[in-house]
Order: sequence, then C-alpha cells, then structure tokens
Amino acid sequence: MKQEIRRAEKLNTLGELAASIAHEIRNPLTVVKGFLQLMQRQEKGENYQYLTLVLSELGRAEAIINDYLNFAKPEFKKIESFQYSEAIRDVYLLLQPYALKQGVSLYFQVASDCRLSTDKNQLKQALVNIIKNAVEATPPAGTVSITLQAKESSACLTVQDTGKGMTPEQLGRIGTLFYTTKDKGTGLGTMVSLRIIETMNGKIEYQSEPNKGTEVTVTLPAETAKFQTNV
Ligand code: ADP
Ligand code: MG
Repeated sequence: MKQEIRRAEKLNTLGELAASIAHEIRNPLTVVKGFLQLMQRQEKGENYQYLTLVLSELGRAEAIINDYLNFAKPEFKKIESFQYSEAIRDVYLLLQPYALKQGVSLYFQVASDCRLSTDKNQLKQALVNIIKNAVEATPPAGTVSITLQAKESSACLTVQDTGKGMTPEQLGRIGTLFYTTKDKGTGLGTMVSLRIIETMNGKIEYQSEPNKGTEVTVTLPAETAKFQTNV
C-alpha cells in the first residue's frame, strides 16, 4: 500500500516566533563564520584543526536554521520553465560524492522527460532532502535509483533505495516536525520537502518495508498541465 503523506501543517504562534529568532540568528552567525574562515586561512599551527571543527559545526547550525526557515516559509522567488531531468541531474551530481563516501551506488535514469514551470531551487532542495535520506538509510554496497517518468500532464519521480526501510509505525511518523531516528538528525528534511511539493500542487508517497527498502514517489504537474482545459 502506498501511503500519501500530507502533514504540512501551519505554524502556530510559537513556531512563528521560532522562525523570527532563527532569522535573526542567521546574520551574526554569518559574520562569525566569515571571520573564522579568515583566521583559519592565516593559521599555520595546531589551531587549524580546531577551527575546522568549529566551522563544520557552524555550518551545521546554519543548515538547521535554513531548513527551519524554509519549512516555516518556503519562498518561491523565481518561477521559470525548465527541463525536469536537468534539475534532477544537478541534484544527482551534487549528491554523488556523498553517496560514494557511504559506499552507496546512486543511479539516475530518464524514461521520459517533461518541462516544469516552478521555482527550480526550491524543487532541488525538496529532492536533495528525499535523496539524501535514501542514501543515509542504505548500507554500504546498497543502491539508490532515481527514475523520472513523465506522463501527459504529470511527472512521476521515484527514489528507490535498498536500505533499512520503515515499519508502518515509523511510516506514520515521517514528515512530522522534528521526527528523526538519527543521532545528528533534525527531523526537518521531510517536512521541508513536503511543504515545497505541496506548494507546487504535487504529492509525495512512501512505500516501505523494513530491511528491504523504501520507494518515494514525487508527483508534480507538468508544465503543459496548466494549459489544458477542464472538459
Ligand atoms: P532527518 O534526516 O534529519 O532524520 P528527515 O525529516 O529528513 O529528518 O527524516 C525523518 C526520518 O524519516 C529519518 O530520521 C528516518 O528515520 C526516516 N526516513 C526518511 N527517509 C527514509 C528512507 N528512505 N528510508 C528509511 N527511513 C527514512
Ligand atoms: Mg533528512
């Protein structure tokens, strides 16, 4: 059974407050990071490795804040028309080194392509979160296969992994804010993807079996869909 996830709830007042604090914290963080990078470039001694660690943790803090802000308010800055497979290829190339590091083979194939009209960067962000999760769930020597199949009015993207899978109980919790099973997880990624894809009038479905793997299906309206009249 495919399970469609619909949980992009609206933020409450506390959530709005958290978003504004996250926003305010981002600026000083950027300044601190800039100066530390400068210091690191001049450092030849043993402090170099400490600065590397500090910078990497700062990067993590920044990523969490960006994720939260994107969840709170995804901004669709630039709507453009583009070839779907090209956007996926960008994400595929971006995540290839990450997959390699984990010993996971990442594949991408295009069965049929189409054009989309939306914010390309937001879409890429949504796909990065989904594919990254698939890689993280997959043990070394496993595979993650991305397949694009476009139909007349909609495009279907599947991300299939041979990873640890999820029980129905876990599947029921995915996409809820801050739900994570990882030591360094934030439990924000799926929420962000969900919110972005829903804003694009698309949907995300999960099919999963423990110890076998997970298949995520992202369905989006193709560009031509909006020109079709309702008969
Ligand atoms: P995070 O990655 O920070 O944990 P996410 O919102 O991206 O947060 O994912 C939430 C949880 O959903 C993960 O911790 C993991 O347990 C589960 N999950 C997501 N995708 C998969 C997948 N492809 N296979 C198995 N579990 C997954
Ligand atoms: Mg994640």
